[in-house]
Amino acid sequence: MPLGFLRQFRKPAQAPRFQPQRLYYPFASGSKMAIVPAGTAPRQMLRYMRGCLAAAAPVEDLLLLAHACERGETGALPELNALVVFTGTGFGGLEESGRDLFWRVFQVPVFEQCIGPDGQVLAVECDAHQGLHVLTADPRPPEGFTARFERTPCGCGRVTPRWIGLRRSVPIHSDAALSRS
Ligand SMILES: [Zn+2]
Repeated sequence: MPLGFLRQFRKPAQAPRFQPQRLYYPFASGSKMAIVPAGTAPRQMLRYMRGCLAAAAPVEDLLLLAHACERGETGALPELNALVVFTGTGFGGLEESGRDLFWRVFQVPVFEQCIGPDGQVLAVECDAHQGLHVLTADPRPPEGFTARFERTPCGCGRVTPRWIGLRRSVPIHSDAALSRS
């Protein structure tokens, strides 16, 4: 079940290159969330996040931001309470090393959301962090990704099937993306 729509920032006016049709807020009560368009530079990402309690952005952009933060290139981070990480078609995958990096830098829970080729949310991570709940009728991960399919009830109480260990079939270490920072 979707927990609610998110209000998308209207500024800056630059439209996202990619806009998911629906976003899922990881908490029962809403709070202000920054939705960061793909391809946003690290310092600009922080400007989006200022004054927000949570932030949502594509995984590769968040990795660039986290690496820049670790190198001390960005200044102070906003105080967030959650990070929504878009993975899937057009976004890339989130490896354990990425989760570790996000924890070191942001120190907030990560909620992965896997996006399909036409922009719909395919699966979402809940606050039990035991995989991603599949939202679509077709339970297969998007092309280029693999996951173990789990049908046992989740720690969050939901009984919908989940993907465990969603990752790229062939992990891509995005040196090209890193050079963007
Ligand atoms: Zn769950």
